[in-house]
Parts: sequence; C-alpha cells; structure tokens
Amino acid sequence: MSIADNIKRLKKETDPIKVTLLAVSKTKPVEEVREAYDAGQRLFGENMVQELVEKQEHLPKDIQWHIIGHLQTNKVKYIAPFISMIQSVDSLKLLQEINKHAEKNNRVIDYLLQIYIADEETKFGLGFDEAIELLRSEELATLKHIRIRGLMGIATNTENEKQIKDEFYELKTFFDGIKQSYFRKDKTFDTLSMGMSSDYKLAIEQGSNMVRLGSTIFGSRVIKHWKNN
Ligand SMILES: *Cc1c(COP(=O)(O)O)cnc(C)c1O
Repeated sequence: MSIADNIKRLKKETDPIKVTLLAVSKTKPVEEVREAYDAGQRLFGENMVQELVEKQEHLPKDIQWHIIGHLQTNKVKYIAPFISMIQSVDSLKLLQEINKHAEKNNRVIDYLLQIYIADEETKFGLGFDEAIELLRSEELATLKHIRIRGLMGIATNTENEKQIKDEFYELKTFFDGIKQSYFRKDKTFDTLSMGMSSDYKLAIEQGSNMVRLGSTIFGSRVIKHWKNN
C-alpha cells in the first residue's frame, strides 16, 4: 500500500471516533512527507530538532509540526518560531526555556507533559508524583507563553497486551484525575497522546485521542545512527 493509501485508511479509522492522527515522519525524506501531505495529512511528528528544522524549510507552511522526542533546552530556540506542539516536556527547566523563546517569538507554544508509564529504564518522562508537583509549582503559573494541552505516554515495547493495556489504562485514569483537579474549566486540556504503530488499537480502546504512527504510514525505518566502530 502507498503512503497515501495508508493515510486514507487510517483517517477512516480514526476520524469518526475523533482520534487525531499524528504522522511520525522521523528518518523519512521530504518527498515521503509531501506524499502524506498531498493525501490530506497536516500533523507530523519528528524527534530530532535538526532533522525537523531542515524538513520544515522544504515543506508547506500549513503543516503542524510536533516534537515527540526528548528535547534539550539548548535546542528550543531553533523550533520556537514554528513548532505547533511539544509533546515531550519532562521538566520545569525545559518549560522555562520554551516560555522564554515563545515570548521572543511573540507566541504561545502548546505542550504535553510526557508521563513515564513503561516498565523500561530508557524511556523519558515524569512520574505521576513529579507531574503533579510540576503542575502545582508557583513558577509554572508565571509562564504565560506556554499552554498545556494534555499528556503523552509511551507503553512498554512488549508482546504482552495485558501489560500495554494496563499502562494505557493508568495513564488515562491519571489524565482524567488531572483534568478534574486542575483543568475542570479549561477546555484546552484535551489531548491524551498514546499509541504507536504496534499498540495504537489498544491505546484507543483505553481512551487515547491522539495516536502517533510512523511505520504503519511510511513503512519500517532503517536504523540511521548505527554505530559501526
Ligand atoms: C518513533 C515514535 C513513534 C512512532 O513509532 P512507530 O512504531 O513507527 O509508529 C511514536 N511515538 C514516539 C515518541 C516515537 O519516538
């Protein structure tokens, strides 16, 4: 199936149930992003700042770009002029930096807090307690050029469906609790980003409203950063 076919098939699956489709185009060339764009896709996710900056220069300006990978504070300035959402926020320090550069660009930048749900040590993100601490901090309330839109999580990379389901269930429960406690009157706290190619159906079952799909759309990725010495 072509990229366009994949986009159309996935949109048919997600549009009617109001799940937003983020096309993860990391490692994929501009021409393939363009193909998805021509099929109607406007939301794209990347995990490397330099790759994102280079691609966006060559692609239509109405694309909404999301950063989904760990973001270093010293890279924020490169994406602040155009980024639509930062899904991988995991510290107050990063938010302060995003706020600073958003202000310089005279805009407000949307973000998700990345919550750690996987049973793996390599995954970035905040624990439930750390997320609450951040949301309660007085410092956060002073940052006027950022806007929280919800939460993001990555499940464990496992064949064990029960475990994946449990992790998504926990994040959905946490999301609902946070919404109730801190954002009851705030309609813009509305995004729960969970689910990738291997587990997006489980994520949707558990209440995700944004899925981040790469290989299901573009085919499998070649490992680019192979260490050969
Ligand atoms: C790469 C990536 C995805 C997409 O992965 P696929 O398995 O190709 O769908 C989604 N979310 C994050 C955070 C990623 O890094």
